[in-house]
Amino acid sequence: MRATVAAIHLSNLRHNLREIRSHLDAECAAAGRKPPAVCVAVKADAYGHGAGAVARVAVEEGITHLGVATVDEGAELRDAGIAVPILLYGPPASFEYEKLVQYQLSPFVASIEYGRSLSLVAQRLDMAVAVHLKVDTGMGRYGCTPEAAPEIARQLSALPRLVLAGTATHFPLSDGPDNGATEQQWQSLQQVAQKIRAAGVDPGLVHAANSGAIVAHPHTWGDMVRPGISVYGYYPSTEQERPIELKPVMELGSRLSFVKRVPKGATVSYGMTWTAPRETVIGTVPAGYADGINRGLSSRGEVLVHEAATGRAHRVPIVGRVCMDQFMVDLGPESQARVEDRVVLFGPDPAGPSAEDIAVTLGTIPYEVTCWVSRRVPRVFRD
Ligand SMILES: *Cc1c(COP(=O)(O)O)cnc(C)c1O
Repeated sequence: MRATVAAIHLSNLRHNLREIRSHLDAECAAAGRKPPAVCVAVKADAYGHGAGAVARVAVEEGITHLGVATVDEGAELRDAGIAVPILLYGPPASFEYEKLVQYQLSPFVASIEYGRSLSLVAQRLDMAVAVHLKVDTGMGRYGCTPEAAPEIARQLSALPRLVLAGTATHFPLSDGPDNGATEQQWQSLQQVAQKIRAAGVDPGLVHAANSGAIVAHPHTWGDMVRPGISVYGYYPSTEQERPIELKPVMELGSRLSFVKRVPKGATVSYGMTWTAPRETVIGTVPAGYADGINRGLSSRGEVLVHEAATGRAHRVPIVGRVCMDQFMVDLGPESQARVEDRVVLFGPDPAGPSAEDIAVTLGTIPYEVTCWVSRRVPRVFRD
C-alpha cells in the first residue's frame, strides 16, 4: 500500500442509493403510480470506484439490475458472484456473443440480425438470453429507429431461446435546459411500446431515465430508471436543481512526501512555470497524472491539507506543472505542515475540493474526474 489511495466510502454509497430510492418512492406515491425498479450503472469499474464492491453493496441495498458497457465487465461481476440481471449497454463485437450468453448478460439489441446471432448461440449452448430493444429517439449513438422498432420487437420475440425483457432509450439532454426534447423522446418510446403491445408482444420493462432524468423528469421514469453518476454522489451537470442530497463516495487522498522552505524567486517543477512570489513553504505530494491527477490542474487546482501540528485543515494551491508521479503545493509562509500530513485531492469533505470543482476548473464533468483515477491507486473500502 502506498500513501496515495482512493477511499471508497460505502456508507455514502448506501446513503445515495437510499436517497434516490426515497425520491422515486415519494414522487410515485404522490402521483399514485408504481415506483420504478433501479438499474445502477457499474460500467468503467463503477466510474472508478470498484465495480465488485459497488455491485455487492447495491444488491445488499435492494438494487435489482446493474448496467455495464462491455462483456468483460459483466463477466467479472458474474465471476464475483453477482446474480442479478446485468444489462449490457454497449453493442459488443460478434466474437463476444458466446461469452455474453455464457455469462447471462442482457444486451441492448437494435437489429434483428444481432438478435438472430444471439438466438443461435443460445440454442447451441442450451441456454436462454434476455434482451432489451434499444430505440434511438435522439441520442444518435446506438439503437434502431422508432419506426423500425415494433417490427424488430415482434421478430425478436419469436426467436428461439430469446426473451424480450425490455424496451429502452437514452436521453442526451435530461440534465439541463432541453426545449422539450426529453419529453418528446419519452413520448416516442411510449408509442413504440404501445405498438409492440398492439402486435401482441410484451415489450418488457420500458426504461430510459439516467441521473439527469431521475432529477428533472419524473414522468419519464417508466418501469425502471438507470442512474450512474448520482449513485457516486454527483449531479450530472451544474445546470439542474438539486432535490436529492448526494454525498461523494470517492475520497482521493495522499500524504505530503517532502516539505521545504524556499526563498522568493524559487521555481517549481518542469518548465519552471511557477516562481515563488515570496518566501514560502512548498509541499510535495506523491501523486501525478499517472494516478489520474490531470495535468490541466498545473497551477490551477487546489488540495486540502490537514496539518497535524496545528489540527488545522486548509486549502492550498497546486503550483507548477503536475508531473507523472508527483506534484507540488504552496503551503504558505506560515505553514506548520510536515511530511506525512494528510492531503485530500477531492472527496466528500466540503472544506476541500470535490470532483465537481475539479471538473469545473478543467471544463469537463465529474464522471471523467473519478474515471481518471488509475489502477495504480489502491481502492480502500470503508463501511
Ligand atoms: C452510463 C449510462 C447510464 C447512467 O448515466 P448517468 O448520467 O451516469 O446517470 C444510463 N444509461 C445508459 C445507457 C448509460 O450508458
